Amino acid sequence: MRYSLHGNLCLCSRRFKMAASQVQDEAFVTLATNDRYAYGALVLGHSLRAVNTTRQLAVMITPTVSSLMRQLLTEVFHCITQVDPLDSNDEANLALLTRPELGITFSKLHCWRLTQYNKCVFMDADTLVLRNIDDLFEREELSAAPDVGWPDLFNSGVFVFKPSEETYRGLLQCAMTQGSFDGGDQGLLNTYFSDWGTKDIARHLPFIYNMTASRAYSYLPAFVKFGSDVKVVHFIGAVKPWEFTYDTNTGTVLTCEGISSQHELTFIQAWWDVFVAKVKPRVEAHQTQFSEKMGQLSLGSVSPITSPSSPPAATTSPIDSRTRQWQWEQGQIDYLGEDRFENIMKKIDEKVNNK
Ligand code: UDP
Ligand code: MN
Repeated sequence: MRYSLHGNLCLCSRRFKMAASQVQDEAFVTLATNDRYAYGALVLGHSLRAVNTTRQLAVMITPTVSSLMRQLLTEVFHCITQVDPLDSNDEANLALLTRPELGITFSKLHCWRLTQYNKCVFMDADTLVLRNIDDLFEREELSAAPDVGWPDLFNSGVFVFKPSEETYRGLLQCAMTQGSFDGGDQGLLNTYFSDWGTKDIARHLPFIYNMTASRAYSYLPAFVKFGSDVKVVHFIGAVKPWEFTYDTNTGTVLTCEGISSQHELTFIQAWWDVFVAKVKPRVEAHQTQFSEKMGQLSLGSVSPITSPSSPPAATTSPIDSRTRQWQWEQGQIDYLGEDRFENIMKKIDEKVNNK
């Protein structure tokens, strides 16, 4: 365990013997602020390994990620960096997005502080790599693909950047003076790198490097023509692959009402295939409670069809309030801890007295 120059706790894994062909000063970077997104990070990490990347794999986590997930992350990422959560606290704009949870994505900004690397590619924890994308390192900061919701802006789920303390400070300054027009990292990054749309076409990544899974249907002929070239799938939106239910008897993901197309389901299936092959055995090796009930496996909160979900992996570090709410909703109430009766009474008293 060592501290990086910037005070961020860097828990670099010693398990990895670097192959001679590995590039040491370039990395794929992701972020997880809770155990659910950490499952996403694990699948992303394994998908990058499956396509034989020659770059380093780095993940940033906040203190609310459990010790089990940290352990699992060290088994696939070369470097784990603990960062302080950054939150936009911009409830009004996040309400417009109908994604109140995305303020925390400001934590992404810490990636500019990973100055042990010369160049990086940030990837959201809800992305899945299908083909080698090491050629992205030939691009300059800031390269990204257009956003499907507003193509004059870039989507901040996949972008090439150059770590720099100066840029990090500039981004914080921009957050304080101009804020984010959507309350999340994407609004802020598009404000800061506002010349992305016009300066240099080479900074526009092809859509196949950040293909929005839920929108594949919206231009079906293009999907039919180019779909097989897709390199990265991005599961944008509130319902993530880990929130679906997987039937262990048939090896297939169960569909749900909100699903937009068969193509989307195919990509969610691809995510689960990596999960079941690479992540599940490792979770089981750590012998945590990882329940498979009635042949169905689910990790998340809005399991579409099904039966009781399994909890996120057991935690020993403090868990964030969304995870606790999730556990509460699953009937896993921590009677002896945060959720004990006296704490609930204390909360009620506080609310009543503040009126
Ligand atoms: N993220 C996280 N915890 C959260 C929300 C987001 O760690 O509670 C990170 C994670 O890497 C995620 C990224 O921030 O992929 C952006 O959020 P998300 O992918 O949910 O946004 P979307 O792509 O749906 O707009
Ligand atoms: Mn995303």
